[in-house]
Amino acid sequence: MNSFLPSNTVTAASLGFGLCKACHLLQPCPALHGVHCRRCGAAVHIRKPYSLAISWFFLVLAMLLLIPANMLPMMNILLFNRGEPSTIIGGVALLVHHGIYAIAAVVFIASFVVPLGKIACIIILLLSVQFRWKMSTRRRTVMFRIVEFLGRWSMLDVFVVTVMVGLVRLGQTASVEPGMGIVAFGAAVILTMLSSMSFDPRLIWDVADQDA
Ligand SMILES: [Zn+2]
Repeated sequence: MNSFLPSNTVTAASLGFGLCKACHLLQPCPALHGVHCRRCGAAVHIRKPYSLAISWFFLVLAMLLLIPANMLPMMNILLFNRGEPSTIIGGVALLVHHGIYAIAAVVFIASFVVPLGKIACIIILLLSVQFRWKMSTRRRTVMFRIVEFLGRWSMLDVFVVTVMVGLVRLGQTASVEPGMGIVAFGAAVILTMLSSMSFDPRLIWDVADQDA
């Protein structure tokens, strides 16, 4: 049995009630169409409408944008005032080649590991809900924590790259200037954020409760 709920437990959704995200008033709400909150007027839905479809839409766009982000010059790495435009991986390879391992690691993690890891996590979440994967309650809880974590740290990669561009410029031997690829990369990061924001985490529990 996969259920989180004892058999005598009722949920607001099962009684046709929805929670206002703005003022937290619980009120009757039709399952398909939302209503306007009777207290504050905000839109109330039992579940975010078209949550999976919208998440997929933003995610696919983000993945498409990662192609130019990796093909176009992402940064112009200047070593001893000589430099040439470089893609993400090319830049990391160049930094490693010159023995600047710390900066290479920061660039690699912030602009490669974090965005790809984030996209992989969202794909797993969406697939698990869409195809109703059989999964233990513990694993579903881990998935929910991942969604929360993604939301909280979704600006990290943009932040690290921005700070790095500023900080590294202070150095004597190496400096990093942003290139055209960063526009595509930034757009991909924003679309990934929109994708994880569009996902309604309550769908994780819905699937578990329905399967039980
Ligand atoms: Zn309200």
